[in-house]
Amino acid sequence: MDFGEALNIRMDEFAAACTQCGKCFEACPMTGPAGIGDAEPKMVLSGIVDLLRGNAGNAEAESWASACSSSGYCIEACDYGVNPRTMVRLAHFASTRLRDGDAVKGNAMKSFRAMAKSVRVISRLQLDSEVIDKLQPPPGRSRPQTSPDVSFYTGCNAHKTPHILILCLEVIRAMGFTYEVVGGPTACCGVFQFLSGDGETSGRAGLSTLRQIDEIGAREKLSWCPSCQSQFDEIIIPNHEKMTGDSDFALTPFFIFLERHIDQLEKLLVLPVRKRVALNERPGYPGVVRAVKRILQSIPELEFVELNVPRAGLMSNYLTVAPKFKDELREQEFKAAADAGVTTLATIFHACHRELCHFEERVAFEIVNVMELIGQSMGVKAEDVYKRLKMMSEVEAMMDDCSDLLSRHGLDPNEARDVLLADQLAAKPLQGRFVENDRR
Ligand code: SF4
Ligand code: SF4
Repeated sequence: MDFGEALNIRMDEFAAACTQCGKCFEACPMTGPAGIGDAEPKMVLSGIVDLLRGNAGNAEAESWASACSSSGYCIEACDYGVNPRTMVRLAHFASTRLRDGDAVKGNAMKSFRAMAKSVRVISRLQLDSEVIDKLQPPPGRSRPQTSPDVSFYTGCNAHKTPHILILCLEVIRAMGFTYEVVGGPTACCGVFQFLSGDGETSGRAGLSTLRQIDEIGAREKLSWCPSCQSQFDEIIIPNHEKMTGDSDFALTPFFIFLERHIDQLEKLLVLPVRKRVALNERPGYPGVVRAVKRILQSIPELEFVELNVPRAGLMSNYLTVAPKFKDELREQEFKAAADAGVTTLATIFHACHRELCHFEERVAFEIVNVMELIGQSMGVKAEDVYKRLKMMSEVEAMMDDCSDLLSRHGLDPNEARDVLLADQLAAKPLQGRFVENDRR
């Protein structure tokens, strides 16, 4: 059985299992922002099931499938053991494949190439070759004879904020674990191709990465990125199981691994961090949020503050489909954080950090990644170059700042400038009602 056949079988299974009761639709935070809040839930679900069966569905089902931000509120709503998040994701795939037909391969290639180029350029504008080779080791590299304790799968886009990954590796090393890294565009989870409706290429990429990780033979296979984690959890691993009968492969989110070894980690969290900290939570993996809170509460003198605000999206960029909704959620969170008098808003995931970090110049608190707080308590630091660049007002200032690395990596300045602009690193979207100038 090939990957495409496994996908089709799974879509049929979801279509057969779903009773079309519509409870998942009622629990979804994206229906209003997508303009289908008044739609009849059962009718939308009949469209979702129709899409899964290879048919045209209906307009509301297509809108819902396109608007899904993987928040996962639907999962608990289902009384029938169906995972609606996976089902809606598969319906979106089916709808895109049907709509784009022969164009899916070209679209997938274009989307993957754009991501690979932007990761290559943006990571090289921040790091020298030696660090890049550690964070993005080439797939054919030589390996030590003995298997490491853990493999750490970074995904691709996290390399745009490499200080986060550097700190993760520092933590793993300081906890006494040996590790190997799998990451960068040569270790793709296949999500870009999947979103373009190209199941075959998505499967080839994801299964090749699964093998890269598996061959390391580590006891624990860690992953950083929630987008890769969900592509593996919902698509690659179940398909692999269907194709081979092998159900042994699993990825563990990095923070859940840290929580599991909290006794070891707590011994390293020795320096006080005198900050009042709120968290930029994301609902897609509740276990990760729970783990991060547990870790933050282990940092000496750090005061953790809960913010009671609505949350959506696997990461901030998953809300791009509903920009007004995304802005509103961000503004509510900033206001709640300021009202609570926090010194620090901590992002968990890299894409949230990319989209929020530069707002620091307009709000009354710092915006850092949670790994920076963990690092601070351990006495290790990695500079957030991405934020420093993003807070510059002009792309030419960024180019000047990176001129040495530009020439050392032999990057084409025109290409680098285009990537900086296309990635919105230089676009500074600081619109929003809640802005303050006084910094605490
Ligand atoms: S995962 Fe979230 S956004 Fe997607 S369908 Fe479920 S509730 Fe809606
Ligand atoms: S996925 Fe579950 S909650 Fe959603 S319509 Fe089907 S049976 Fe109902």
